[in-house]
Amino acid sequence: NGVPTTVGLELGVPTVHRTVVDFGNLDHAATTPALTAVSEAVDKVQRRYGSVHRGAGYTSRLTTSWFEQARDEVGSFVGARPDDEVVFTRNTTDSLRLLAHALPRRTSVLVFESAHHAALLPWPSRRTTRLPVPASAHDAVSLLDQALERLGDTGPRLVVLTGACNVTGDIWPVAELAEVARRHGARTVLDAAQLAPHRVVDIAALGVDWVAFSGHKIYAPYGAGALVGRRDWLDQAAPYLPAGGATHTVSHRHIRWQQGPARHEGGTPNAVGAIALATACATIAANRDAVEAHEAELLGLLRAGLAATPGVHVHHVLGVSPDSVGVATFTVDGYAPSLVSQVLADEHGLAVRDGRFCAHLLCETLFDGDGTAVRASIGLATTREHVQRLVSGVRRLVEQGPALAYENTSEGWVA
Ligand code: PMP
Repeated sequence: NGVPTTVGLELGVPTVHRTVVDFGNLDHAATTPALTAVSEAVDKVQRRYGSVHRGAGYTSRLTTSWFEQARDEVGSFVGARPDDEVVFTRNTTDSLRLLAHALPRRTSVLVFESAHHAALLPWPSRRTTRLPVPASAHDAVSLLDQALERLGDTGPRLVVLTGACNVTGDIWPVAELAEVARRHGARTVLDAAQLAPHRVVDIAALGVDWVAFSGHKIYAPYGAGALVGRRDWLDQAAPYLPAGGATHTVSHRHIRWQQGPARHEGGTPNAVGAIALATACATIAANRDAVEAHEAELLGLLRAGLAATPGVHVHHVLGVSPDSVGVATFTVDGYAPSLVSQVLADEHGLAVRDGRFCAHLLCETLFDGDGTAVRASIGLATTREHVQRLVSGVRRLVEQGPALAYENTSEGWVA
């Protein structure tokens, strides 16, 4: 209906701002609508902002103070230690790419094949060991232990960890894996893109060296993410974007680069994005219990409803995981995932995602056929009614087939 609405008031959780047609949003693992608090913060700053760290002019000073406060808030959101650095980036992909850029020479990298492509692909291929998709949390710990044992003390080593799986929602045993890495003298980076919106991420408690995450998955708009963690590799690396802001002084003979986050934040930084990200972090942190309770209730309903529907299979990566964020990924016997997704959209007004979720190696292992599935993911814009509508929509499809006739053409499924 196109009318601006806020969702969440009746749920007792932070409200999200929506100005789009009132569909049932079960696609939060892809991206999330902005929180009302975030829209308001963005509205406020974009009336007055100037360029960050560009002299003593009024708007620059004002925006710089907002930007640096945002940095502190993002750091505390992930429990940054006093020596940790918070670098603003575009998103998780950019954060991990920045760390890949900063690896000391001859760093060996270990990563599970189940990782999202953003965490699987940025590392130098000759020095990267891919670990197979584990069958359980316990299996993951022993696979990593054995791989590090085989590798030996070959110099710098980095283990890439995933907080929560973007395909199945499984929460990984991050603290145990980080402990194994530490025992072998290796460092760790945590891809927290799917974990940070749903659970507390505490860099010190988890014992990881870096955390990467995206604003647009935690109820801020697109365009801002962060890499938080140890500063030594980052300070020793060449600037990620050699440009204004990253330079201390430039003379004919010598360039002196900044130390600290500015070294890798060349160009005019996305101050509005950083403030939006920080506002989202602060709002979610202040409402953690309500957010978790809302998601847990709906996930229980969703999984139970799908499990009780004949011909529907809900998938997991770490076995039937003890803990999971609000994701149920499923396949339906006899129906292509893309058709299920289209029927849910066109006949029931529900947004889900189908495909291989930028994790092709994992999907190949988990799903038959073309390696695709349907992912329903819960967040603050999801209501109980949306979940009920999804379960009954899938049930109706299984029992009666699609209401409209769809044909699989080169353009996709066409009604
Ligand atoms: N890691 C995981 C687990 C993800 O789910 C995603 C986004 N789908 C990313 C990394 C990449 O995030 P972004 O696209 O915001 O860079």
